[in-house]
Amino acid sequence: MAFLPMTKLIVKNLFTRPVTERYPFVPKKYYPGTRGKVLIEVEKCIFCGICQRRCPTAAIGVSKEKKSWDIERMRCISCNLCVEVCPKKCLALDVKYSAAAGGLQKEEFHA
Ligand code: SF4
Ligand code: SF4
Repeated sequence: MAFLPMTKLIVKNLFTRPVTERYPFVPKKYYPGTRGKVLIEVEKCIFCGICQRRCPTAAIGVSKEKKSWDIERMRCISCNLCVEVCPKKCLALDVKYSAAAGGLQKEEFHA
């Protein structure tokens, strides 16, 4: 009787809550330690470019002349390497992800 296990499963599923969430109607919960988007306190940045050189996906751009720091959100894989190598400790990983959108989502910050 191959359909018996399936029938049991169907009946069980009728009386249990769905495992999926009704996003975006139900807000997403973020837990401590979740690797989300990179944040910068640009006023602390000295534009040394270490984060740019160490980023494995070339997501970060730094210009000492323009005193600017930018990131292509869709390139970032939230590896945390830039946060670890920054000598001024001005980078951090937020627990939240960037909002989904088309394009590369470049964000630029100026001192
Ligand atoms: S490593 Fe830190 S201080 Fe250097 S450019 Fe990157 S964010 Fe700025
Ligand atoms: S978290 Fe990793 S991938 Fe994202 S910007 Fe930093 S070094 Fe690059």
